[in-house]
Amino acid sequence: MNNNNQSSEDVKVVDVVCGMEVDPSKARGVEKYEGKTYCFCSDSCRESFIEDPKRYVR
Ligand SMILES: [Zn+2]
Repeated sequence: MNNNNQSSEDVKVVDVVCGMEVDPSKARGVEKYEGKTYCFCSDSCRESFIEDPKRYVR
């Protein structure tokens, strides 16, 4: 068998504000919006998202 899934530690999510890949375990900010969780690289990205989520989420 050669079907190893990557460990969850390798999962990256995209910071929708700046487009950077963020490791969820190291994210500076996490917000839930419409049932989805978003991770951010910095407090300022998180604040931008909170101010106007619709601008970043479609
Ligand atoms: Zn960011």
